[in-house]
Amino acid sequence: LMGQMMSQPLLISSIIEFAARHYGGTEIVSRRVEGDLHRYTYRDCHQRSRRMAHALGGLGVAMGERVATLAWNGYRHMELYYAVSGSGLVLHTLNPRLHPEQIAYIVNHAEDQVLFFDLTFLPIIEAISAHCKTVKAFVLMADRERMPQETKIAKLLCYEDLIASSSDDYAWPVFDENSAASLCYTSGTTGNPKGALYSHRSTVLHAYGSAMPNALNVSSRDTVLPVVPMFHVNAWGLPYSVLLSGAKMVYPGAALDGKSLYELFESERVTFSAGVPTVWLGLVNHALQNDLKFSTFRRTVIGGSACPPAMMDTFIDKLGVEVIHAWGMTEMSPLGTAGVLQSKHLDLPVEAQRKVLQKQGHCVYGVDMKIVDDAGVELEWDGSTYGHLLVKGPWVISGYYKNEGGDVLQDGWFPTGDVATIDPDGYMQITDRSKDVIKSGGEWIGTIDIESIAMAHPAVLQAACIGVAHPKWAERPLLLVVRRPGHEVAAAALLDFFEGKIAKWWTPDDVVFIEALPLGGTGKIQKNKLREQFKDYKLP
Ligand code: ADP
Repeated sequence: LMGQMMSQPLLISSIIEFAARHYGGTEIVSRRVEGDLHRYTYRDCHQRSRRMAHALGGLGVAMGERVATLAWNGYRHMELYYAVSGSGLVLHTLNPRLHPEQIAYIVNHAEDQVLFFDLTFLPIIEAISAHCKTVKAFVLMADRERMPQETKIAKLLCYEDLIASSSDDYAWPVFDENSAASLCYTSGTTGNPKGALYSHRSTVLHAYGSAMPNALNVSSRDTVLPVVPMFHVNAWGLPYSVLLSGAKMVYPGAALDGKSLYELFESERVTFSAGVPTVWLGLVNHALQNDLKFSTFRRTVIGGSACPPAMMDTFIDKLGVEVIHAWGMTEMSPLGTAGVLQSKHLDLPVEAQRKVLQKQGHCVYGVDMKIVDDAGVELEWDGSTYGHLLVKGPWVISGYYKNEGGDVLQDGWFPTGDVATIDPDGYMQITDRSKDVIKSGGEWIGTIDIESIAMAHPAVLQAACIGVAHPKWAERPLLLVVRRPGHEVAAAALLDFFEGKIAKWWTPDDVVFIEALPLGGTGKIQKNKLREQFKDYKLP
Protein backbone atom coordinates (compact mmCIF):
# COMPACT_ATOMS: atom_id res chain seq x y z
CA LEU A 1 0.00 0.00 0.00
CA MET A 2 1.45 3.34 -1.03
CA GLY A 3 1.04 6.53 0.94
CA GLN A 4 -1.08 9.22 -0.61
CA MET A 5 1.10 12.23 -0.07
CA MET A 6 2.19 14.70 -2.74
CA SER A 7 5.32 13.72 -4.49
CA GLN A 8 7.55 16.76 -4.67
CA PRO A 9 11.25 16.47 -5.42
CA LEU A 10 13.62 18.04 -2.89
CA LEU A 11 15.15 20.78 -5.04
CA ILE A 12 17.45 23.63 -3.97
CA SER A 13 15.25 26.18 -5.74
CA SER A 14 12.47 25.37 -3.26
CA ILE A 15 14.63 26.84 -0.46
CA ILE A 16 14.98 30.30 -2.01
CA GLU A 17 11.33 30.19 -3.10
CA PHE A 18 10.29 29.44 0.47
CA ALA A 19 12.57 32.09 1.96
CA ALA A 20 11.37 34.77 -0.48
CA ARG A 21 7.70 33.92 0.07
CA HIS A 22 7.66 33.35 3.83
CA TYR A 23 10.58 35.47 5.07
CA GLY A 24 10.66 37.85 2.11
CA GLY A 25 11.62 40.91 4.16
CA THR A 26 14.48 39.24 6.03
CA GLU A 27 17.82 40.86 5.31
CA ILE A 28 21.04 39.70 3.74
CA VAL A 29 23.90 42.08 4.58
CA SER A 30 27.25 41.78 2.81
CA ARG A 31 30.56 43.53 3.19
CA ARG A 32 31.65 43.98 -0.40
CA VAL A 33 35.14 43.75 -1.82
CA GLU A 34 34.59 47.42 -2.67
CA GLY A 35 34.53 48.06 1.11
CA ASP A 36 30.94 49.18 1.65
CA LEU A 37 28.03 47.30 3.18
CA HIS A 38 25.34 46.08 0.82
CA ARG A 39 21.92 45.15 2.14
CA TYR A 40 18.80 43.72 0.57
CA THR A 41 16.19 41.05 1.30
CA TYR A 42 15.49 37.42 0.50
CA ARG A 43 12.85 38.67 -1.91
CA ASP A 44 15.45 40.73 -3.79
CA CYS A 45 17.88 37.81 -3.76
CA HIS A 46 15.26 35.52 -5.28
CA GLN A 47 14.53 38.02 -8.02
CA ARG A 48 18.17 38.52 -8.95
CA SER A 49 18.82 34.77 -8.82
CA ARG A 50 16.06 34.21 -11.37
CA ARG A 51 17.54 36.91 -13.60
CA MET A 52 20.92 35.21 -13.35
CA ALA A 53 19.35 31.81 -14.11
CA HIS A 54 17.93 33.39 -17.27
CA ALA A 55 21.32 34.83 -18.15
CA LEU A 56 23.02 31.45 -17.69
CA GLY A 57 20.59 29.94 -20.18
CA GLY A 58 21.62 32.66 -22.60
CA LEU A 59 25.29 31.74 -22.18
CA GLY A 60 24.49 28.30 -23.57
CA VAL A 61 25.24 26.14 -20.52
CA ALA A 62 23.31 22.88 -20.60
CA MET A 63 21.64 20.97 -17.74
CA GLY A 64 24.25 19.18 -15.62
CA GLU A 65 27.18 21.28 -16.87
CA ARG A 66 29.45 22.94 -14.32
CA VAL A 67 29.63 26.64 -13.50
CA ALA A 68 32.49 27.75 -11.28
CA THR A 69 32.82 30.53 -8.71
CA LEU A 70 35.97 32.07 -7.24
CA ALA A 71 34.47 34.36 -4.66
CA TRP A 72 34.21 35.48 -1.04
CA ASN A 73 31.10 35.21 1.10
CA GLY A 74 28.67 37.75 -0.30
CA TYR A 75 25.24 38.30 -1.82
CA ARG A 76 26.28 37.79 -5.45
CA HIS A 77 27.88 34.50 -4.53
CA MET A 78 24.64 33.46 -2.86
CA GLU A 79 22.60 34.47 -5.92
CA LEU A 80 24.79 32.07 -7.88
CA TYR A 81 24.22 29.27 -5.35
CA TYR A 82 20.55 29.40 -6.32
CA ALA A 83 20.74 30.54 -9.95
CA VAL A 84 23.20 27.82 -10.93
CA SER A 85 21.86 24.81 -9.00
CA GLY A 86 18.23 25.95 -9.25
CA SER A 87 18.37 26.01 -13.04
CA GLY A 88 19.77 22.46 -13.20
CA LEU A 89 23.44 23.40 -13.60
CA VAL A 90 26.15 22.36 -11.18
CA LEU A 91 27.76 24.96 -8.90
CA HIS A 92 31.48 24.42 -8.54
CA THR A 93 33.01 26.55 -5.78
CA LEU A 94 36.75 27.06 -6.29
CA ASN A 95 39.09 27.75 -3.40
CA PRO A 96 41.10 30.93 -4.21
CA ARG A 97 43.72 30.03 -1.60
CA LEU A 98 44.92 27.12 -3.74
CA HIS A 99 47.88 27.61 -6.03
CA PRO A 100 46.72 29.08 -9.41
CA GLU A 101 48.01 25.99 -11.22
CA GLN A 102 45.90 23.80 -8.96
CA ILE A 103 42.86 26.01 -9.60
CA ALA A 104 43.37 25.61 -13.35
CA TYR A 105 43.73 21.83 -12.90
CA ILE A 106 40.41 21.67 -11.03
CA VAL A 107 38.62 23.90 -13.59
CA ASN A 108 39.76 21.59 -16.38
CA HIS A 109 38.94 18.46 -14.41
CA ALA A 110 35.42 19.72 -13.69
CA GLU A 111 35.08 21.01 -17.30
CA ASP A 112 33.64 24.28 -16.04
CA GLN A 113 31.74 26.22 -18.73
CA VAL A 114 31.50 29.63 -17.09
CA LEU A 115 33.65 31.04 -14.29
CA PHE A 116 32.37 33.81 -12.01
CA PHE A 117 34.93 35.69 -9.89
CA ASP A 118 35.29 38.55 -7.41
CA LEU A 119 37.36 41.61 -8.24
CA THR A 120 40.07 40.46 -5.78
CA PHE A 121 40.80 37.47 -7.96
CA LEU A 122 41.25 39.28 -11.28
CA PRO A 123 45.05 38.63 -11.21
CA ILE A 124 44.49 34.87 -10.70
CA ILE A 125 42.04 34.73 -13.60
CA GLU A 126 44.37 36.76 -15.83
CA ALA A 127 47.11 34.23 -15.07
CA ILE A 128 45.07 31.07 -15.67
CA SER A 129 42.30 31.96 -18.14
CA ALA A 130 44.25 30.81 -21.18
CA HIS A 131 44.74 27.39 -19.54
CA CYS A 132 41.06 26.89 -18.69
CA LYS A 133 40.15 24.98 -21.82
CA THR A 134 36.41 24.48 -21.31
CA VAL A 135 35.47 27.92 -20.01
CA LYS A 136 33.36 29.84 -22.55
CA ALA A 137 33.03 33.02 -20.48
CA PHE A 138 34.54 34.63 -17.38
CA VAL A 139 32.20 36.88 -15.41
CA LEU A 140 33.50 39.59 -13.09
CA MET A 141 31.11 39.85 -10.13
CA ALA A 142 30.95 43.66 -10.11
CA ASP A 143 29.39 46.77 -11.68
CA ARG A 144 30.34 47.97 -15.12
CA GLU A 145 32.54 50.73 -13.69
CA ARG A 146 34.80 48.12 -12.06
CA MET A 147 35.50 46.33 -15.32
CA PRO A 148 39.19 46.53 -16.34
CA GLN A 149 39.96 48.76 -19.34
CA GLU A 150 42.36 46.23 -20.75
CA THR A 151 42.60 42.55 -20.05
CA LYS A 152 44.19 39.34 -21.26
CA ILE A 153 40.98 37.43 -20.54
CA ALA A 154 39.47 36.43 -23.89
CA LYS A 155 35.77 36.55 -23.01
CA LEU A 156 35.11 38.74 -20.01
CA LEU A 157 31.54 39.66 -19.03
CA CYS A 158 30.12 41.90 -16.32
CA TYR A 159 27.84 40.40 -13.66
CA GLU A 160 25.64 43.44 -13.24
CA ASP A 161 25.22 43.75 -17.02
CA LEU A 162 23.98 40.16 -17.14
CA ILE A 163 21.51 40.84 -14.32
CA ALA A 164 20.31 44.11 -15.86
CA SER A 165 19.75 42.63 -19.30
CA SER A 166 17.85 39.54 -18.11
CA SER A 167 14.22 39.14 -17.16
CA ASP A 168 13.15 37.75 -13.79
CA ASP A 169 10.22 36.06 -15.52
CA TYR A 170 11.70 32.67 -14.84
CA ALA A 171 10.12 29.53 -13.38
CA TRP A 172 12.53 27.16 -11.66
CA PRO A 173 12.58 23.89 -13.61
CA VAL A 174 11.43 20.69 -11.88
CA PHE A 175 13.64 17.64 -12.28
CA ASP A 176 14.87 14.53 -10.47
CA GLU A 177 15.99 15.37 -6.92
CA ASN A 178 18.98 13.07 -7.37
CA SER A 179 20.41 15.36 -10.10
CA ALA A 180 23.82 16.86 -9.38
CA ALA A 181 23.63 20.28 -7.69
CA SER A 182 27.13 21.26 -6.64
CA LEU A 183 30.71 20.08 -6.72
CA CYS A 184 33.42 20.60 -4.08
CA TYR A 185 36.98 19.34 -4.28
CA THR A 186 38.86 18.05 -1.27
CA SER A 187 42.04 19.95 -0.56
CA GLY A 188 44.18 17.09 -1.84
CA THR A 189 46.84 16.97 0.83
CA THR A 190 47.77 13.61 -0.70
CA GLY A 191 47.71 13.57 -4.53
CA ASN A 192 45.38 15.58 -6.74
CA PRO A 193 42.14 16.97 -5.31
CA LYS A 194 39.05 14.80 -5.76
CA GLY A 195 35.49 16.01 -6.32
CA ALA A 196 32.48 15.38 -4.09
CA LEU A 197 29.36 15.79 -6.24
CA TYR A 198 26.30 16.65 -4.15
CA SER A 199 22.72 16.18 -5.31
CA HIS A 200 19.68 18.39 -4.73
CA ARG A 201 18.25 15.74 -2.43
CA SER A 202 21.45 15.41 -0.36
CA THR A 203 21.78 19.20 -0.09
CA VAL A 204 18.19 19.76 1.06
CA LEU A 205 18.35 16.89 3.57
CA HIS A 206 21.69 18.18 4.89
CA ALA A 207 20.20 21.67 5.25
CA TYR A 208 17.26 20.27 7.26
CA GLY A 209 19.47 18.03 9.39
CA SER A 210 22.11 20.63 10.14
CA ALA A 211 19.58 23.30 11.18
CA MET A 212 18.12 21.07 13.92
CA PRO A 213 18.52 21.99 17.62
CA ASN A 214 20.99 19.16 18.30
CA ALA A 215 23.13 20.41 15.44
CA LEU A 216 23.57 24.08 14.50
CA ASN A 217 20.18 25.09 15.91
CA VAL A 218 19.43 27.89 13.42
CA SER A 219 16.10 29.69 13.69
CA SER A 220 14.31 32.81 12.51
CA ARG A 221 15.49 34.53 15.73
CA ASP A 222 19.10 34.28 14.61
CA THR A 223 21.42 36.53 12.67
CA VAL A 224 24.07 34.30 11.14
CA LEU A 225 27.53 35.32 9.97
CA PRO A 226 29.32 32.47 8.21
CA VAL A 227 33.06 33.05 8.63
CA VAL A 228 33.63 29.68 7.00
CA PRO A 229 34.02 30.48 3.30
CA MET A 230 31.40 29.60 0.71
CA PHE A 231 34.26 27.81 -1.08
CA HIS A 232 34.88 25.52 1.93
CA VAL A 233 32.22 22.79 1.59
CA ASN A 234 29.58 25.39 0.71
CA ALA A 235 30.09 27.27 3.99
CA TRP A 236 28.99 24.09 5.75
CA GLY A 237 25.55 24.34 4.15
CA LEU A 238 24.69 27.67 5.82
CA PRO A 239 23.60 29.38 2.56
CA TYR A 240 20.84 26.73 2.52
CA SER A 241 20.06 26.07 6.21
CA VAL A 242 19.92 29.76 7.15
CA LEU A 243 17.39 30.46 4.39
CA LEU A 244 15.06 27.62 5.24
CA SER A 245 15.23 28.75 8.88
CA GLY A 246 14.36 32.35 8.01
CA ALA A 247 17.39 33.79 9.84
CA LYS A 248 19.08 37.05 8.83
CA MET A 249 22.34 36.50 6.95
CA VAL A 250 25.52 38.58 7.26
CA TYR A 251 28.43 37.98 4.88
CA PRO A 252 31.90 39.29 5.80
CA GLY A 253 33.43 39.37 2.28
CA ALA A 254 37.22 39.46 2.35
CA ALA A 255 37.54 41.27 5.71
CA LEU A 256 38.26 38.36 8.04
CA ASP A 257 40.64 40.12 10.47
CA GLY A 258 39.60 40.37 14.12
CA LYS A 259 38.75 44.08 14.08
CA SER A 260 36.56 43.98 10.94
CA LEU A 261 34.75 40.88 12.13
CA TYR A 262 34.13 42.32 15.59
CA GLU A 263 32.65 45.52 14.13
CA LEU A 264 30.36 43.58 11.83
CA PHE A 265 29.23 41.21 14.62
CA GLU A 266 28.29 44.23 16.71
CA SER A 267 26.76 46.51 14.06
CA GLU A 268 24.58 43.76 12.55
CA ARG A 269 23.78 42.13 15.92
CA VAL A 270 25.06 38.70 14.90
CA THR A 271 23.95 35.86 17.20
CA PHE A 272 25.53 32.83 15.55
CA SER A 273 28.63 32.04 13.51
CA ALA A 274 30.79 29.19 12.23
CA GLY A 275 34.43 28.71 11.30
CA VAL A 276 37.67 26.71 11.64
CA PRO A 277 39.79 27.26 14.80
CA THR A 278 42.56 29.26 13.08
CA VAL A 279 40.18 32.00 11.88
CA TRP A 280 38.88 32.53 15.40
CA LEU A 281 42.34 33.36 16.74
CA GLY A 282 42.18 36.85 15.23
CA LEU A 283 38.72 37.70 16.57
CA VAL A 284 39.37 36.25 20.03
CA ASN A 285 42.69 38.10 20.40
CA HIS A 286 41.17 41.36 19.22
CA ALA A 287 38.34 41.05 21.76
CA LEU A 288 40.64 40.10 24.66
CA GLN A 289 43.34 42.68 23.95
CA ASN A 290 40.81 45.49 23.76
CA ASP A 291 38.66 44.19 26.60
CA LEU A 292 35.63 43.96 24.31
CA LYS A 293 32.45 41.99 24.92
CA PHE A 294 29.86 40.82 22.42
CA SER A 295 26.39 42.30 22.84
CA THR A 296 24.49 39.67 20.83
CA PHE A 297 26.90 36.91 19.72
CA ARG A 298 25.89 33.81 21.70
CA ARG A 299 26.82 30.64 19.75
CA THR A 300 29.48 29.50 17.37
CA VAL A 301 30.24 26.29 15.56
CA ILE A 302 33.91 25.36 15.48
CA GLY A 303 35.02 22.52 13.24
CA GLY A 304 37.19 21.53 10.30
CA SER A 305 39.99 20.69 12.74
CA ALA A 306 39.94 20.04 16.48
CA CYS A 307 38.81 22.97 18.62
CA PRO A 308 41.53 23.41 21.26
CA PRO A 309 39.91 23.18 24.74
CA ALA A 310 41.65 26.44 25.68
CA MET A 311 39.84 28.20 22.82
CA MET A 312 36.52 26.71 23.91
CA ASP A 313 37.13 27.92 27.50
CA THR A 314 37.97 31.42 26.31
CA PHE A 315 34.83 31.64 24.20
CA ILE A 316 32.55 30.38 26.97
CA ASP A 317 34.14 31.83 30.12
CA LYS A 318 35.60 35.10 28.87
CA LEU A 319 33.38 36.04 25.93
CA GLY A 320 30.05 34.43 26.87
CA VAL A 321 29.82 32.53 23.58
CA GLU A 322 28.64 28.92 23.56
CA VAL A 323 30.78 26.62 21.38
CA ILE A 324 29.33 23.78 19.32
CA HIS A 325 32.25 21.57 18.36
CA ALA A 326 31.38 19.88 15.07
CA TRP A 327 33.07 17.35 12.86
CA GLY A 328 32.59 16.59 9.21
CA MET A 329 34.32 16.49 5.87
CA THR A 330 33.89 17.52 2.24
CA GLU A 331 32.75 13.98 1.48
CA MET A 332 29.91 14.45 4.02
CA SER A 333 28.43 17.75 2.79
CA PRO A 334 30.06 18.28 5.51
CA LEU A 335 28.18 17.74 8.77
CA GLY A 336 28.61 14.45 10.65
CA THR A 337 28.54 15.16 14.36
CA ALA A 338 27.89 18.12 16.63
CA GLY A 339 28.56 18.45 20.36
CA VAL A 340 25.62 19.61 22.44
CA LEU A 341 24.66 18.42 25.93
CA GLN A 342 21.80 16.05 26.73
CA SER A 343 19.49 16.57 29.73
CA LYS A 344 21.45 13.96 31.71
CA HIS A 345 24.51 16.24 31.52
CA LEU A 346 22.84 19.37 32.81
CA ASP A 347 23.44 18.66 36.50
CA LEU A 348 27.10 17.75 36.01
CA PRO A 349 29.82 20.11 37.26
CA VAL A 350 31.08 22.53 34.62
CA GLU A 351 34.38 20.64 34.10
CA ALA A 352 32.52 17.39 33.40
CA GLN A 353 30.21 19.16 30.96
CA ARG A 354 33.23 20.69 29.26
CA LYS A 355 34.71 17.20 28.75
CA VAL A 356 31.55 16.24 26.82
CA LEU A 357 31.59 19.44 24.77
CA GLN A 358 35.26 19.01 23.87
CA LYS A 359 34.51 15.80 21.98
CA GLN A 360 33.64 16.09 18.29
CA GLY A 361 30.02 15.34 19.11
CA HIS A 362 27.01 13.20 18.55
CA CYS A 363 25.60 11.98 15.22
CA VAL A 364 22.96 14.11 13.60
CA TYR A 365 19.98 12.13 12.21
CA GLY A 366 20.96 11.33 8.63
CA VAL A 367 24.46 10.14 9.52
CA ASP A 368 25.47 6.83 11.08
CA MET A 369 29.00 6.02 12.23
CA LYS A 370 31.08 3.14 13.56
CA ILE A 371 34.70 2.44 14.51
CA VAL A 372 36.50 -0.66 13.26
CA ASP A 373 39.88 -2.34 13.72
CA ASP A 374 42.38 -2.98 10.90
CA ALA A 375 40.43 -6.11 9.89
CA GLY A 376 37.17 -4.14 9.65
CA VAL A 377 35.62 -5.61 12.82
CA GLU A 378 33.38 -3.16 14.65
CA LEU A 379 34.76 -1.92 17.98
CA GLU A 380 33.04 -1.10 21.23
CA TRP A 381 31.54 2.28 22.15
CA ASP A 382 33.34 2.59 25.50
CA GLY A 383 34.97 5.98 25.03
CA SER A 384 38.51 4.57 25.11
CA THR A 385 38.81 1.94 22.37
CA TYR A 386 39.89 3.71 19.21
CA GLY A 387 39.61 2.62 15.61
CA HIS A 388 39.05 3.74 12.02
CA LEU A 389 35.94 5.86 11.74
CA LEU A 390 33.40 4.91 9.04
CA VAL A 391 30.18 6.75 8.15
CA LYS A 392 27.11 6.41 5.99
CA GLY A 393 23.99 8.36 5.15
CA PRO A 394 22.12 10.19 2.39
CA TRP A 395 24.53 13.13 2.39
CA VAL A 396 27.73 11.06 2.34
CA ILE A 397 29.42 10.43 -1.04
CA SER A 398 29.17 6.99 -2.64
CA GLY A 399 32.24 7.66 -4.81
CA TYR A 400 34.30 10.59 -6.11
CA TYR A 401 33.48 12.62 -9.21
CA LYS A 402 34.54 10.83 -12.41
CA ASN A 403 35.13 7.76 -10.24
CA GLU A 404 38.53 9.11 -9.18
CA GLY A 405 40.06 6.69 -6.69
CA GLY A 406 37.70 3.87 -7.75
CA ASP A 407 35.40 2.15 -5.24
CA VAL A 408 35.82 3.96 -1.99
CA LEU A 409 33.13 2.33 0.13
CA GLN A 410 33.79 -0.58 2.49
CA ASP A 411 30.61 -2.71 2.74
CA GLY A 412 28.53 0.38 2.09
CA TRP A 413 30.42 2.57 4.60
CA PHE A 414 32.69 5.50 3.78
CA PRO A 415 36.11 5.36 5.49
CA THR A 416 36.83 8.85 6.81
CA GLY A 417 40.57 8.46 7.34
CA ASP A 418 40.07 9.57 10.95
CA VAL A 419 40.84 7.57 14.07
CA ALA A 420 38.27 7.97 16.85
CA THR A 421 36.63 6.69 20.02
CA ILE A 422 32.87 6.63 20.63
CA ASP A 423 31.50 6.69 24.19
CA PRO A 424 28.40 4.84 25.46
CA ASP A 425 26.28 8.00 24.97
CA GLY A 426 27.29 8.15 21.30
CA TYR A 427 29.77 11.04 21.52
CA MET A 428 32.66 10.60 19.12
CA GLN A 429 36.14 11.93 19.76
CA ILE A 430 38.77 12.18 17.05
CA THR A 431 42.17 10.92 18.19
CA ASP A 432 43.84 11.93 14.95
CA ARG A 433 43.79 11.70 11.20
CA SER A 434 45.26 8.31 10.40
CA LYS A 435 48.05 9.97 8.38
CA ASP A 436 48.99 12.23 11.30
CA VAL A 437 49.02 9.56 14.04
CA ILE A 438 52.52 9.00 15.47
CA LYS A 439 53.59 5.38 15.70
CA SER A 440 55.99 5.06 18.61
CA GLY A 441 57.29 1.60 19.49
CA GLY A 442 54.28 -0.06 17.86
CA GLU A 443 51.78 2.09 19.81
CA TRP A 444 49.79 5.05 18.53
CA ILE A 445 50.12 8.57 19.86
CA GLY A 446 47.29 10.94 18.96
CA THR A 447 48.56 14.43 18.20
CA ILE A 448 45.33 16.32 18.96
CA ASP A 449 45.63 15.70 22.72
CA ILE A 450 49.22 16.91 22.74
CA GLU A 451 48.38 20.08 20.82
CA SER A 452 45.40 20.80 23.08
CA ILE A 453 47.60 20.67 26.18
CA ALA A 454 50.28 22.87 24.61
CA MET A 455 47.69 25.46 23.59
CA ALA A 456 46.45 25.71 27.16
CA HIS A 457 49.85 27.24 28.07
CA PRO A 458 49.52 31.04 28.25
CA ALA A 459 52.60 31.63 26.08
CA VAL A 460 51.43 29.37 23.25
CA LEU A 461 49.45 30.81 20.36
CA GLN A 462 49.48 27.76 18.07
CA ALA A 463 50.95 24.28 18.29
CA ALA A 464 51.35 21.33 15.95
CA CYS A 465 52.74 17.93 16.83
CA ILE A 466 54.35 15.68 14.22
CA GLY A 467 56.17 12.36 14.23
CA VAL A 468 59.92 12.45 13.56
CA ALA A 469 62.03 9.36 12.78
CA HIS A 470 63.66 7.81 15.84
CA PRO A 471 66.25 4.98 15.79
CA LYS A 472 64.68 3.04 18.65
CA TRP A 473 60.95 3.89 18.65
CA ALA A 474 60.46 4.34 14.86
CA GLU A 475 58.78 7.73 15.50
CA ARG A 476 58.63 10.16 18.38
CA PRO A 477 56.58 13.34 18.81
CA LEU A 478 58.12 16.74 18.07
CA LEU A 479 56.13 19.81 19.10
CA LEU A 480 56.22 22.94 16.93
CA VAL A 481 55.06 26.08 18.65
CA VAL A 482 54.22 29.63 17.68
CA ARG A 483 54.59 31.81 20.78
CA ARG A 484 52.01 34.43 21.67
CA PRO A 485 53.43 37.89 20.87
CA GLY A 486 55.11 39.36 23.95
CA HIS A 487 55.32 36.01 25.76
CA GLU A 488 58.36 33.88 26.49
CA VAL A 489 58.65 30.23 27.37
CA ALA A 490 61.58 27.80 27.06
CA ALA A 491 61.31 24.30 25.63
CA ALA A 492 62.04 22.64 28.98
CA ALA A 493 59.38 24.64 30.79
CA LEU A 494 56.83 23.81 28.13
CA LEU A 495 57.63 20.11 28.38
CA ASP A 496 57.24 20.31 32.19
CA PHE A 497 53.75 21.68 31.55
CA PHE A 498 52.76 18.23 30.21
CA GLU A 499 53.58 16.58 33.55
CA GLY A 500 50.51 14.85 34.98
CA LYS A 501 48.34 15.84 32.00
CA ILE A 502 49.26 13.00 29.69
CA ALA A 503 51.03 9.59 29.75
CA LYS A 504 54.77 10.20 30.09
CA TRP A 505 55.62 8.44 26.85
CA TRP A 506 53.18 10.67 24.96
CA THR A 507 55.09 13.79 26.03
CA PRO A 508 56.97 15.26 23.04
CA ASP A 509 60.72 14.63 22.92
CA ASP A 510 61.45 18.21 21.96
CA VAL A 511 59.94 21.62 21.18
CA VAL A 512 60.91 23.89 18.29
CA PHE A 513 59.67 27.49 18.26
CA ILE A 514 58.75 28.81 14.83
CA GLU A 515 57.37 32.07 13.42
CA ALA A 516 54.23 30.63 11.81
CA LEU A 517 52.63 27.33 10.93
CA PRO A 518 51.90 26.57 7.26
CA LEU A 519 48.15 26.80 6.64
CA GLY A 520 46.31 25.16 3.74
CA GLY A 521 43.52 26.60 1.62
CA THR A 522 40.86 26.02 4.27
CA GLY A 523 42.89 27.35 7.19
CA LYS A 524 44.12 24.00 8.47
CA ILE A 525 47.68 23.34 9.56
CA GLN A 526 49.55 21.49 6.81
CA LYS A 527 51.31 18.76 8.74
CA ASN A 528 52.66 17.16 5.58
CA LYS A 529 54.67 20.35 4.98
CA LEU A 530 55.95 20.31 8.58
CA ARG A 531 56.91 16.63 8.32
CA GLU A 532 58.86 17.44 5.18
CA GLN A 533 60.55 20.45 6.79
CA PHE A 534 61.58 18.55 9.94
CA LYS A 535 62.23 15.12 8.43
CA ASP A 536 65.94 15.22 9.33
CA TYR A 537 65.44 16.79 12.74
CA LYS A 538 67.63 15.13 15.36
CA LEU A 539 65.69 14.56 18.56
CA PRO A 540 67.75 14.85 21.77
P1 ADP B 1 40.29 18.27 3.70
O1 ADP B 1 40.12 16.78 3.87
O2 ADP B 1 40.34 18.71 2.34
O3 ADP B 1 41.24 18.91 4.67
P2 ADP B 1 37.78 18.61 4.91
O4 ADP B 1 37.29 19.94 5.36
O5 ADP B 1 36.89 17.74 4.19
O6 ADP B 1 38.96 18.97 4.06
O7 ADP B 1 38.48 17.88 6.13
C1 ADP B 1 37.89 16.81 6.78
C2 ADP B 1 38.78 16.37 7.89
O8 ADP B 1 39.02 17.43 8.80
C3 ADP B 1 38.20 15.28 8.73
O9 ADP B 1 38.36 14.02 8.14
C4 ADP B 1 38.99 15.44 10.02
O10 ADP B 1 40.26 14.83 9.94
C5 ADP B 1 39.20 16.91 10.11
N1 ADP B 1 38.21 17.49 11.00
C6 ADP B 1 37.06 18.12 10.70
N2 ADP B 1 36.44 18.56 11.80
C7 ADP B 1 37.21 18.20 12.85
C8 ADP B 1 37.11 18.36 14.27
N3 ADP B 1 36.10 19.00 14.84
N4 ADP B 1 38.09 17.83 15.03
C9 ADP B 1 39.14 17.19 14.49
N5 ADP B 1 39.29 17.02 13.16
C10 ADP B 1 38.34 17.52 12.35
